[in-house]
Amino acid sequence: MSPPLKPKSHCLSPSEIEGRLISAGVQPTAQRIAICRFVLCEADHPTAEQVKAWADQNFPRLSLATVYNTLHTLVGAGLLREYRFPHLEQVVYDNNLGAHHHFLDEATGRILDLAGDEVKVSTHLASRIQVEGVEVLVRGRIT
Ligand SMILES: [Zn+2]
Repeated sequence: MSPPLKPKSHCLSPSEIEGRLISAGVQPTAQRIAICRFVLCEADHPTAEQVKAWADQNFPRLSLATVYNTLHTLVGAGLLREYRFPHLEQVVYDNNLGAHHHFLDEATGRILDLAGDEVKVSTHLASRIQVEGVEVLVRGRIT
């Protein structure tokens, strides 16, 4: 198996982030814009706790509630998706908004994106079931 690809999603500029926050009805504070830069560009499927840990190093006064609120707002604004994977108790935030699958590296617990065409799934479902999408979690190890 070739190494899973991580198609890096488009990184928004601070002014683009500001515009998205404003159109979502959110005051674009420096902390929120910074959180956005982290979760939209630098972070890779972080949990809220990982975002908080990052915030603690950069904005020590940011509360966990603010981190949660900002993540919730970004999901609501369509800038971020949230996933609940069966092996994780925590929600994972994903800045890749395109159709894609995920690879769980069982050695590290890391989640990587797989491009939509790296996994092929065929379904044989009753015709009355309308499939809206298929998202696969591939588990394994990278050798
Ligand atoms: Zn993803």
